[in-house]
Amino acid sequence: MTGDNEIVVSVRDLHTWFELRRWGIVRVGNVRAVDGISFDLKRGESVAFVGESGCGKSTLARTLLGLHIPTSGKVFFEGINMQELDRKGLLDYRARVGFVQQDPYGALPPFMDVRRILREPLIIHGVGDRKEQESRIRESMEDVRLSPPEEFLHKFPHMLSGGQQQRVVIARALMLKPSMIIADEPVSMLDASVRVEILNLLRNIQKTRQLTLAFITHDLSTVRYFAERVFVMYAGRIVEKSTVDNLLEHPAHPYTRALLDALPDPDPENAARMRELPSGEPPSLIDPPSGCRFHPRCPHAIKGLCEVDIPPDFEPGEGHTAACWLHRQ
Ligand code: SF4
Repeated sequence: MTGDNEIVVSVRDLHTWFELRRWGIVRVGNVRAVDGISFDLKRGESVAFVGESGCGKSTLARTLLGLHIPTSGKVFFEGINMQELDRKGLLDYRARVGFVQQDPYGALPPFMDVRRILREPLIIHGVGDRKEQESRIRESMEDVRLSPPEEFLHKFPHMLSGGQQQRVVIARALMLKPSMIIADEPVSMLDASVRVEILNLLRNIQKTRQLTLAFITHDLSTVRYFAERVFVMYAGRIVEKSTVDNLLEHPAHPYTRALLDALPDPDPENAARMRELPSGEPPSLIDPPSGCRFHPRCPHAIKGLCEVDIPPDFEPGEGHTAACWLHRQ
């Protein structure tokens, strides 16, 4: 299949659980970090996965990267079932998916200079001779505006600013010409002054190269500029999926509405109306609430229904789903 609607990633009923053991021996339960998630990502689109910390979005990212083994469910990448890949297949898969981590300094080996960091994936995957590798390194550095490359090639991570480190991380993610980039909170550890620059850079690269971008963030205020669609996550599940504009104008799930209400308003007259997220903590992923997981915090919970039955995905509009009983027909 080719074209604008080509599906790159298909996830079906994915669960990634971690065993919880007392004293490291006796199994006492499971942390259900990802607990029944399904979605498709199309070629060349940017999708933001949004939710509070602990909602499972980083575990989802690491499962998509092949760093966690799913407990059950399926992940298809360009039509291939990831769970059926052998060691070599998994290595090839990782070449097709680039990863931009949250902490650029922690993501870069401190004992390698920029040239070596960027050459490393080419060596591991046996790409090109030394001359070709050098030209790819310079091309990626130009793409992320580490220019002129001569100024940075010999530098070690500690000699770079946070923004420059993140540009190296992005350049490394591009070295093997991936089809998809997964960016996990890519600017949350950077100074406010460089955040927009890095987000714009990622967005431009994604558009120019027609990459699929899975953008993991807790910050709903940034998604309008960097994604076409948003998936809102709560307690290991996706509770709402929509285009960005529609989600911001017509949020259908009470949790999404609460996230939007909690955003700071730049207009001081409206700022006073800003509300906190609903009372209560995000639920435990070891023993999550029955029925709708948001029901203990939801101001609209329907007694006798929401705490008992898990809401399926309803469709309040075209291309828009919300797992909430308020939208049953
Ligand atoms: Fe609230 Fe019920 Fe909707 Fe859950 S299903 S968000 S508890 S109204």
